[in-house]
Amino acid sequence: MSFPPIRPELAGIEPYGAPQLDVPVQLNVNENPYGPSEACLDDIAAAVREAARELNRYPDREFTALREGLAAYLNTDGGHGLEARNIWAANGSNEVMLQLLQAFGGPGRTALSFAPTYSMYPEYARDTHTTWVQGKREADFALDLDHARELIAEVKPHVVLLPSPNNPTGTALPPEVVGVLCEALAEASGGLLVVDEAYGEFRREGTPSALELLPAYRNLVVSRTMSKAFAGAGLRLGYLAADPAILDAIRVVRLPYHLSAVTQATALAALRHADELLGKVDELRKERDETVGWLREQGFTVADSDANYAFFGSFEDRHAVWQGLLDRGVLIRETGPDGWLRVSIGTADEMNAFKTALLHTMEELA
Ligand code: PMP
Repeated sequence: MSFPPIRPELAGIEPYGAPQLDVPVQLNVNENPYGPSEACLDDIAAAVREAARELNRYPDREFTALREGLAAYLNTDGGHGLEARNIWAANGSNEVMLQLLQAFGGPGRTALSFAPTYSMYPEYARDTHTTWVQGKREADFALDLDHARELIAEVKPHVVLLPSPNNPTGTALPPEVVGVLCEALAEASGGLLVVDEAYGEFRREGTPSALELLPAYRNLVVSRTMSKAFAGAGLRLGYLAADPAILDAIRVVRLPYHLSAVTQATALAALRHADELLGKVDELRKERDETVGWLREQGFTVADSDANYAFFGSFEDRHAVWQGLLDRGVLIRETGPDGWLRVSIGTADEMNAFKTALLHTMEELA
């Protein structure tokens, strides 16, 4: 056997991750471009200092205070009567969803999504030995409800992963879809529908959160993160809201003390500054709509976006366009179907730099 003795199906696979390059304008991983204020930093520093006094002890394994804080926050954004008993958290929503597949996927079980979609989903499936099945989306990246129902009836998945808005396209799920799919799943397999609302706070006016439907469907799980709207990508805190019985199943597979005392203290301090940290969401949504409009004026095809990014195309050689932007100090993302590119929404200055770099690149390539 060759060295190291890795599982054969993992041999030669590149680890997932966008390039981390030191360039002036970073618009490639859908971060919030605004950092915390001095007051918020002071509060985080004081909270971490207090937590550090007891670093010789393991942290609260149940992170109860944090779950209470997250429940209270969700009740201001679509949740109804959520309590700590409905909330689970981990180091990023990636870990939350991996735990879901550890508990509800596994050998002999199936997870389903609809492409193009978030490229980590098949990795959660691979890493938990869950069979991965991918349906398709319409040409405009909307979900075809009939196709989705048919596939659920045929595949009988144990978990369906559906981001709303979808990454990389920005497409939100229409409100009626979530309920219909929960019912279809309940009938086909008793499986769970995980609506991944990593970018949920950026949804457009009139698009409801799936949180509103939690009281009606006990096989619904809604996942959120502090990485995006909450401006906390470096914090690594993702969470979900669901029926308490679902949390009990996750507790079986979670590692003990998986959320460090420092993470818990930082996340709680950030929640105390929720108004400030979320304060730029409206501005980013305006900048998003403006960017989508501008790209369309330039003649590009742009997917409707409920997120903090725009997905646009189509290019004969998207890599050349990506490289042209990078040469001009603007890093965006080559992801999703061939010919398309994704740009995260940054500050007004960053978006101006992006637009100028794109125009120059297109001129150069013409
Ligand atoms: N879901 C979607 C759709 C995402 O795009 C991302 C991050 N790119 C995540 C989940 C995971 O985010 P995090 O682990 O930072 O919470």
